[in-house]
Amino acid sequence: MCGEYLSAEISDLLQSKGINLSKLSDVHIDNFQISLHNGKRISSRLPLGGYGISRFYLDNELFKKASETCTIKKERVVEIYDDQEIQKVITNESSYTCKQVIVATGKRSQLDRQLKREFMQTKSEWLAVKMHYDYEFPTDRVELHNFDGGYAGLSKTESGAVNLCYLTSFRSFKRYKDVAVFQEKVLSANPHLKVFFEKAVPLWKKPITISQISFGAKKQGAHQLLFIGDCAGLIHPLCGNGMAMAIHSAHIAVSAIDEYLNGRLNRKQMIQRYNKNWRSTFSSRMLMGRCMQAILIHPGITRVMYNILHRLPFLMPKIIKKTHGKPVQS
Ligand SMILES: Cc1cc2nc3c(=O)[nH]c(=O)nc-3n(C[C@H](O)[C@H](O)[C@H](O)COP(=O)(O)OP(=O)(O)OC[C@H]3O[C@@H](n4cnc5c(N)ncnc54)[C@H](O)[C@@H]3O)c2cc1C
Repeated sequence: MCGEYLSAEISDLLQSKGINLSKLSDVHIDNFQISLHNGKRISSRLPLGGYGISRFYLDNELFKKASETCTIKKERVVEIYDDQEIQKVITNESSYTCKQVIVATGKRSQLDRQLKREFMQTKSEWLAVKMHYDYEFPTDRVELHNFDGGYAGLSKTESGAVNLCYLTSFRSFKRYKDVAVFQEKVLSANPHLKVFFEKAVPLWKKPITISQISFGAKKQGAHQLLFIGDCAGLIHPLCGNGMAMAIHSAHIAVSAIDEYLNGRLNRKQMIQRYNKNWRSTFSSRMLMGRCMQAILIHPGITRVMYNILHRLPFLMPKIIKKTHGKPVQS
């Protein structure tokens, strides 16, 4: 599940690992447009910009690159044990011991339940839908369209397909409980989405859907494990940099693990170092994302915000900057 807009903040980092994003995708996005329920919209440039790239393609390229230097086992992890010295991973096929387990299982996994992580106790009211379409759409733009209870992102991917990905509250969805009807009754109340649904041709038989999405930082608990990517915390999707943060968090983890394996830090110090760096790098943008999301799903406040930004358009890139980091160097 992803809007498939990859922030350019990690392009230098990926380049240093031999992955050239400009070669993977011609879709360079540096324009942003946001619309209210009634269709009024504001445009802005994106300070850093990014790439339109499908997850299927990007993840496969990362997989191929990792395969050059690592042995990759495609097994489902069912349990993790962490001990003072040795950590153990049990999969559906085998078991492995290692010096440090890095957990990168995304937003929500059965493993989070096995590890008794706190966020699994609370129900989340968010669900998301994604689908690729054939549709005439500018290559350099990402659009965010507001509707009752959520927002939808539109942008092109490297294949030429347009990705529609939206997040909605369960409160809004439960009145219809059917994706097609919900899109017709709720999303299409926004005139831009109405035009989109009238003209766009779906490229898949059915959309991808997920529910129970928890946002924010997730507590470490008593574990001696390293959590990276969405496992450590998920920024609100409207910021468009969850993938960049996941990659950046892996980079932060690697430097902490290096210190541990070289004997300069013990495990406890290494985990503390990683968590501290994670917080100082991501906490303020997570907070900004939370504020922006709260504004965006509240029609009254969104209207006030629209009036301010309409009069003072130079504020928009400044707000966007607050949800992103500086380009990450290797
Ligand atoms: C609606 C929505 C729109 C978004 N739009 C964007 C966007 O436009 N741009 C952006 O940058 N970010 C976006 N994001 C956020 C982005 O998708 C995530 O931040 C990013 O995918 C995090 O990467 P990850 O590697 O941590 O997790 P994931 O990409 O979820 O990868 C986790 C992997 O772990 C595997 N896994 C899980 N459990 C196990 C197990 N037990 N054993 C083995 N493997 C396991 C899964 O199969 C999966 O392959 C969006 C999120 C949502 C919800």
